[in-house]
This record gives sequence, C-alpha cells and structure tokens, in this order.
Amino acid sequence: MATIPKQAPIIQPLHKDWYEGKVQCVDMLRLDMIHPVVSGNKWYKLQYNVQHALDNGFRSILTFGGSYSNHLVATAAVAKASGIASIGIVRGGLADTETLKACESYGMQLVHVSREDYNRKTEEEYLAILADTYHNAFIIPEGGANEQGRMGTAEIAALIPNNYTHVCVSVGTGTTFIGLRNALPIATVLYGYAPMKGGAYLIEDIISYLQSSKNINWQLFDNWHYGGFGKHTDEQLAFMNTFYAQNNIPLDVVYTSKMMTGVKDQIHEDVFHDNARILCIHTGGLQGNSSVAGKLNY
Ligand SMILES: *Cc1c(COP(=O)(O)O)cnc(C)c1O
Repeated sequence: MATIPKQAPIIQPLHKDWYEGKVQCVDMLRLDMIHPVVSGNKWYKLQYNVQHALDNGFRSILTFGGSYSNHLVATAAVAKASGIASIGIVRGGLADTETLKACESYGMQLVHVSREDYNRKTEEEYLAILADTYHNAFIIPEGGANEQGRMGTAEIAALIPNNYTHVCVSVGTGTTFIGLRNALPIATVLYGYAPMKGGAYLIEDIISYLQSSKNINWQLFDNWHYGGFGKHTDEQLAFMNTFYAQNNIPLDVVYTSKMMTGVKDQIHEDVFHDNARILCIHTGGLQGNSSVAGKLNY
C-alpha cells in the first residue's frame, strides 16, 4: 500500500483587509500542510501511481523534473516510504540544488540528461529505453500528468464544502485542475492560474480530459507569470512577504504566489461578485523557496 504519514488539511480564512471586504470570504485550503515534502497536490497525483507500480510488480518508479521540481522530490519521498526504488531524470546541467540533494537523501537515483534528451520525455521509443535501462521501471510522466494523477487529484474536491462559489488553483500540467473540474459540483466556478508565459496552450489539453458534461464554468488565466515559469521579480517577493504578514500563510515562488496575485487583482477589479465565496487551494511547493532563501521573511 502506498502510504505516507500526513496531516489533515485545514481551511484557513484570509484577513478581510487582504480582499478589501469586497467579497463574502476568501479562504485557503492548506494542502501545503499535509506533509513537509510530499506537500500540496503532489501526494494526490502520486498515490495511485505508486499503488499501480506496487500492484503490478514494478521494481522502481521513474519520473522527470527540473532541479527545483516539487514533483521529483515528492516522488522520491513517497517511493522511499512505499519501499520501492526511484529514478529521477533531471533536465540539463549539473545544478546541485537543495531539491536534488533532498531527492538523493530519499534514495532517488538521479540521471542528468541533456535538454535534447529531456525533451524526448514523452516519446515512446525513449521511454522504452528508459524502462529497460532502469530495472523494470514504472514511468510517471513529468508532473504526474497521467490517468492515475487525474484520479488522485479528483479526491481534493471531497475536501471542499459546497458553499463556495469559486475555487482557484494554480496550473502547471493541468492535472490538478482537470481532476477538480471533473469532481466539483458543476455550479462551482473553477479558475486556473498558469505561472508561465503563454499558458493558454494548456486549454486544449484540459478540454481533452474533461468529461463533456463538466466542460463548463471554468477559465484559465495566464497573465500573472512575473516574467515566466521559474522566474520571479522583487515585486513578487514583496507580495509574498506582505501576504505572509497579513495572513500568516507562506506562499511558494513558482506557483501559489502568482495565483494569489491574480486573485487579488481580480478582486480589486471586481471580477468576482459581492456574494462570492472564494476558496484558493494552496498546492504546496514551499521546498522550492530555497531558490530565494534569504529574501523572504519566513
Ligand atoms: C506541481 C504544482 C502545481 C501544478 O500542478 P498541476 O497538477 O501540474 O497543474 C501547482 N502548484 C504547486 C505548488 C505545485 O508544486
């Protein structure tokens, strides 16, 4: 059984000043609190993947990520807790980040590959070579973006009381967004916030995995990226520090701080009606803040 000790997530209200009292409430589902390493949405994406690997006699799990990848370190930790070997295919260079050190501390075997090879990560021929080379590995796509991942993230919906009018979530591969849209009540509006430039390319992919009756009441925004994926600005770090001072919630630099900037701007611009009850999902990722260590007040 794929198990990892975890805390029950809580729902925490944000301070009224933060949303200028313009809507009924803005609350945060603290998935970041379930586990220090396998935090946020990553546990939900991984649980059925690891289960599948164990049930089908695979000897290891193999996945992909960059040198700050939340998915990579979460996979390493879950694999260790589940007694199965893990292999991480790491994009580019030989960066020795805190994230990669943590992966190794959980026993993950890291394989650094060129960007060209990394870009072959969905090619069947390349995957067959990897599976063969690395001990009958069960291969999980980058970001846990597969059927098992979408099944697992659908379970996040069960944590959300149905009196919210809007649910907001950050979008990387879209796996969490898809699981949520398929599982939330149809009347709940789901907003996604992509942290990269030109994130609208994800829309087609999202639609392809939505149940046809669920392809409604959702929108994807890509204008709050602070320069692009993995990039940040001083203004963004100041936003994160203010948010922490006001709400006592640490945001991460790659995903949730960009989403909350968007939510705040939208509240300010009256995108939400007065009676809106907004639930923002904290998808975790705090380990990635090691890239801006010293610049945050938390
Ligand atoms: C991975 C990650 C996401 C993106 O999730 P997807 O399911 O790939 O869309 C969002 N937020 C955080 C903090 C993450 O680590």
